[in-house]
Amino acid sequence: MLDQHAIDTLRQHTVPAQKLFIDGDWRAGNGGTLDVISPIDGNVLTTIERATAQDMEGAIASARQAFDDGRWSRMAPAGRKKVLHRLADLIEREALALSVLGVRDNGTEINMAFKAEAGSAASTFRYYAEAIDKVFGEIAPTADDILALVHKEPVGVVGAIVPWNFPLMIGSWKIAPALAAGNSMVLKPAETASLSLLRLAELASEAGLPDGVLNVVTGKGSVVGEVLGLSMDVDVLAFTGSGPTGRRLLEYSARSNLKRCYLELGGKSPNIVFADAPDLDRAAKVSASGIFRNSGQVCVAGSRLLVQRDIHDDFVAALAKNAEGFSVGDPLDLASDIGAVNSLVQLEGNIGFVETAQKEGAERVTGGSRILEETGGYYMEPTVLTGVKSGDTIAQKEVFGPVLAVITFDTEEEAVAIANDSDFGLAGAVWTADLSRAHRMIRKVKTGVIHVNTYGGADGTVPLGGVKQSGNGHDKSLHALDKYVDLKTAWIQL
Ligand code: ADP
Repeated sequence: MLDQHAIDTLRQHTVPAQKLFIDGDWRAGNGGTLDVISPIDGNVLTTIERATAQDMEGAIASARQAFDDGRWSRMAPAGRKKVLHRLADLIEREALALSVLGVRDNGTEINMAFKAEAGSAASTFRYYAEAIDKVFGEIAPTADDILALVHKEPVGVVGAIVPWNFPLMIGSWKIAPALAAGNSMVLKPAETASLSLLRLAELASEAGLPDGVLNVVTGKGSVVGEVLGLSMDVDVLAFTGSGPTGRRLLEYSARSNLKRCYLELGGKSPNIVFADAPDLDRAAKVSASGIFRNSGQVCVAGSRLLVQRDIHDDFVAALAKNAEGFSVGDPLDLASDIGAVNSLVQLEGNIGFVETAQKEGAERVTGGSRILEETGGYYMEPTVLTGVKSGDTIAQKEVFGPVLAVITFDTEEEAVAIANDSDFGLAGAVWTADLSRAHRMIRKVKTGVIHVNTYGGADGTVPLGGVKQSGNGHDKSLHALDKYVDLKTAWIQL
């Protein structure tokens, strides 16, 4: 149980001006600073370095050096395992402080941040720490006079570019398997959520991670992200963010060393409710959480609700009631169910999407507005729009805000067609009591993840990744390790 007094004490802490974390040390950058605006009240919380190309090149050189001299890449597996476990211990020790720092930076409600950020980061590091001495190469079944070995080797320098919605969780999904496999890294956090990742790098150092193995460079994506993408010394790019940036990374790769790019690019996930769903009240409650928690700033958010016509009115009413029941406000108040939108730009974008939807014929059932403006913070009501058609902007574009588009369907075939009428294919859900229908839908809905009779909650044992323009490559599970290793075949004549 989280303690409000402890949270309130931590929120008073002054956050010092941040530096870059390069080669195991704090370094000033050469490009001045960027203000960190807290979405809680719109005030400047601290500053981060606005790194330059030269700063980024220094970080990449540090990672390269660390990789090439083997200080981590050739450390005995038991040693690497110990370091990552120690890091998980430190994250747990600092869980509340890390979470409060992250919330002051990005606005996620503390109840969710504590679990999904610090909690999930610690368990991710433990999971991959354990994998270090349990996942290894192969001996192929060849002719008697041949010995064929398949080695799994670290790739080299991994560049990770991560977004602002869950920096610690998503950062750890990249950092933990990449380090477990023996790589060195340069991490580029989002401009509006760098603080907890800078602290994570410091904790990694305290846990015994050798200098230079994990470097964190803050600044503008269009400047330092580009340098990382174009570097001849970066072997893999692991990215979560928007489609346009993902496309740029592929271009950088093509223009440089053909580095592998793993892209997680969000979605417009269909949450499909059939009239025979086992418990419609629960479905409405979980569906509301599935779109509105963290102000809808969740890549797998169920942002398209497909409802069978017979239950449409009752279901929408139940869902709107849940939406209106959420308490939106100060994300560091334990009584808030939903915190702040990450930035003013994001908030204005959300409102713009609602206006466009209404112009295109959608009806606003609840929400749609900025609230609590007097706090100076960025808060938005959970918003439900009905009468949406599959081709509408609100059904096609990712809002990344607390805005739900409701579409009606009659038949199972129609539900499948609408669900798949999207450039994206990240996640989705089906609510039905019919086991055969559930399995048919699992096969037919083109997404990387599909939930049945629930929404969200998949843990670290299963992969998360998209199909279509939601990207490629998977975070989480043992499969994620494949992104960070090269296979080398040794064919030996005996
Ligand atoms: P969002 O819309 O979620 O902010 P972005 O794709 O813009 O998504 O941002 C995700 C991450 O990509 C952030 O860390 C951001 O700084 C970085 N980024 C943005 N533009 C570029 C770019 N041109 N090259 C590399 N990284 C970038």
